[in-house]
Amino acid sequence: MTGYILISNDDGVDAPGLLALKHGLEKIGEVRVIAPDRNWSAAGHAKTLHRPLRVRPTSLADGSDAYKCDGAPSDCVAVALLGFFSERPALVVSGINPNANVGSDITYSGTVAAAMEAAIDGVPAIAVSLDVDEQARHFATAGEYAARLAQRVLENGLPPDTLLNVNVPDAALSEIRGVAITRCGKRIYYDQLITRQDPFGHPYYWIGGERPGGDKELHGTDIWALANHYVSITPVHVDMTNHALIAELESWASQLQAR
Ligand code: MN
Repeated sequence: MTGYILISNDDGVDAPGLLALKHGLEKIGEVRVIAPDRNWSAAGHAKTLHRPLRVRPTSLADGSDAYKCDGAPSDCVAVALLGFFSERPALVVSGINPNANVGSDITYSGTVAAAMEAAIDGVPAIAVSLDVDEQARHFATAGEYAARLAQRVLENGLPPDTLLNVNVPDAALSEIRGVAITRCGKRIYYDQLITRQDPFGHPYYWIGGERPGGDKELHGTDIWALANHYVSITPVHVDMTNHALIAELESWASQLQAR
């Protein structure tokens, strides 16, 4: 392999999933780490414009060297690709997130955003998440599949503006039924607006609720794959255009222009 693998995450540099990802990927090449100094889960694709970014050396739980940055996951990847490391990586892998990132989760996910930052900048990228129910037990399973897939991506490359979004069942390797290539499924959120009063009598709001669910019957989706104990690999494109709607909207264009 020429070049190194850059890893990051959205849970912070001390998260166990990051270390498991590093241990998985070290089997196939050199791994460098730059990750947020705190948890940015569900922070989406951010770019810090109005304050400086600080990067400091740190060490992971196994004693190995890493860098922590006070920006978002996507900032971490941008800093690395724009010159913090003198050479650019051959591949960027983000994770392992201790929750699935399926369906419309990918618009909220900092894990996916870190991979998307790399894809936009022309570096092949993979986002890896573990579908944890209560407590993460099988990060090593996700680390193993991350390594197998990373090897293939390093050999074959990826099309432009594309990342692979990987979701792994929280199970031992022997319990995985196989790998399913999937499309995004339909996530169902149970968010509620919780309204309380602060000590000064002003209302404040908290968006919360049960863990999101999803349509498990929709065959071929990421949600279906996890429900059936398959590792899900979804090719995700940066271009979010709804191509099917372009022709219909064309007929609106002249009316919108009329005066
Ligand atoms: Mn997270």
